[in-house]
This record gives sequence, structure tokens and C-alpha cells, in this order.
Amino acid sequence: MRISLEGQVALVTGASSGLGYACAEALAAAGAAVTINYHSHREPAESLAEKIRAHGGQAIAVAGDVSVEADVDKLIAAAVSTFGRLDILVANSGLQKDASFGDMTLADWNSVISVNLTGQLLCARAALRQFRQQQFKPELSRAAGKIVHMSSVHQVIPWAGHVNYSASKGGVDLLMRSIAQEIGEERIRVNAVAPGAIKTAINADSIKGGAEEKLLELVPYGRIGVPEDVANAVVWLASDLSDYVHGATLFIDGGMSLYPGFRNNG
Ligand code: NAD
Repeated sequence: MRISLEGQVALVTGASSGLGYACAEALAAAGAAVTINYHSHREPAESLAEKIRAHGGQAIAVAGDVSVEADVDKLIAAAVSTFGRLDILVANSGLQKDASFGDMTLADWNSVISVNLTGQLLCARAALRQFRQQQFKPELSRAAGKIVHMSSVHQVIPWAGHVNYSASKGGVDLLMRSIAQEIGEERIRVNAVAPGAIKTAINADSIKGGAEEKLLELVPYGRIGVPEDVANAVVWLASDLSDYVHGATLFIDGGMSLYPGFRNNG
């Protein structure tokens, strides 16, 4: 079965690399017009937009910091002025500033919370406002809008040395579910994906060399994920095939959240 998002417009934040890049590419392959947000790396975002257009799709690249309210409004405005509407938000941007708890500075805490949690709030709220003011087109989708938050297995797995990151993702879980509870009756679907270990820049250090073998001990399914594993799930969550899925987090982790340390009777 081929998923079609033909005629729909998507915004993917933090899409110049990693999971965001793969999500933008996959949404475009499914037929959506895509606004590719980048923060500091313009070139890969522009060349992805160029690649999508070369394959007959529609895409633009737009700069913006998701933790800045005015930037988020500009991202939505760019999508709407170029493609006429917004149907899908993938709030993907995220970062890590790791430190042991005793050494964690307030700046480390604030920068992670402001991008990973406040950024998710600002993007979801701006998308909701756009969904509300545009015409509902049931011929495009059964939902009046779809929001996919990028969470992490660390919304449930505590993570020593990364308390800012795990707190931000734990926050994303209740942010997502509270928004879903509040706006579901408007036929706006809100969900999240929670990746485990996926090979991208964010975890390059924990995956290189012998570290990969150690990481694999935490993955019952026995392989490290690739960005397409996440992008495929995001396309499904953005499509009508998941029309009755609302307020859910889909773990895409090869079983990392199954307490693999208990495999051999703990
Ligand atoms: P990545 O570093 O390649 O991507 C993060 C993206 O966020 C980058 O493009 C970066 O420019 C962007 N970004 C950072 N600060 C921003 C800001 N202020 N405004 C806008 N964009 C900003 O890493 P990734 O693995 O692709 O991470 C994407 C998301 O997936 C993050 O939310 C991350 O927490 C989550 N995640 C990743 C993994 C994994 O294993 N790779 C696992 C769980 C969750």
C-alpha cells in the first residue's frame, strides 16, 4: 500500500540533518509539499529542497530557531505563503548538552529545555493556530491537522549524565498528551514518535568504534536504527492510515524501552 499525502503541506523543523532530513524527504516522496526548517546549516537544507524539486516535488528551505517565538511564526508564514496552507507539523528539532548532574550549568539546562521542550510548544501552538484559521479540506485528509512531536525513549528511560535531555523528553510526553486531550475534538491529531538509538549526528560519539557493540546490548532487536525507520513511522502518523491514532507515542527503538537488562532473568 502506498501512502499518499498529495496536496498536503508539511513543515519539518531541524531538517538539515538526521531524522528531520529523512522525515522531510519521506513526506515529500509521499507527495507532500515540504517546508524544511534549518537552524545553522543552510546548505544541506537548500540542497534537500533542490533534490525534492528535481524529483518533481515541492520544497523550500527556511531558517529559524524553534525556541524563538517570532522565528516559529515566520516558519509557518513561509509555508503558508508558498504552499497556501499547513496540514502536517513534524516538531523534530532537538539537541543535547551533556554533563554530569553536579557539573550541569544553568545554561546547559536552559538551552536544552528551550529547544527540546519550549520549541515543541511554540511549533505546536503556531501550527494549531494555522489549522484553525484555514479551511478544513476533507478531500485532503480526514483530520483538520496533524502534529507529530519528536520525543525519545528517554521520555521513559532515565539517563544519567543527560538530565536536561531526559527531562525535556519527559516533558514532551505530557505536553503532547495534554495538547491531544485539549484539541482532539477539533479533529486535529497529535502524536509523538520516540526513537531509540538511531545513527545520526546527535549520537555519533556513542555509536562509533567499539561503542556500537555496547549500545547493541541495549537493543533486543539487534541493530542500530537508521533515520528511515523513524521517517516511515512519521509518514504513517501524518497519513489517514493512522486516523484513529491520537495522543499516542510510537516507540521506534528495536525494543530498547523493554528493560533489556532483564532478558536473562535480571
Ligand atoms: P541531529 O543533530 O542531526 O538533528 C537535530 C536538528 O535540530 C539539527 O538539524 C539542528 O540544526 C536542529 N536544531 C537544533 N537547535 C535548533 C533550534 N534552536 N532551532 C531549530 N532547529 C534546531 O540529530 P537527530 O538525531 O536527527 O535529532 C532529531 C530529533 O530526534 C531530536 O529531537 C532528538 O532529540 C531526537 N532523537 C534522536 C535520537 C537518535 O538516536 N538519533 C533518538 C531519540 C530522539
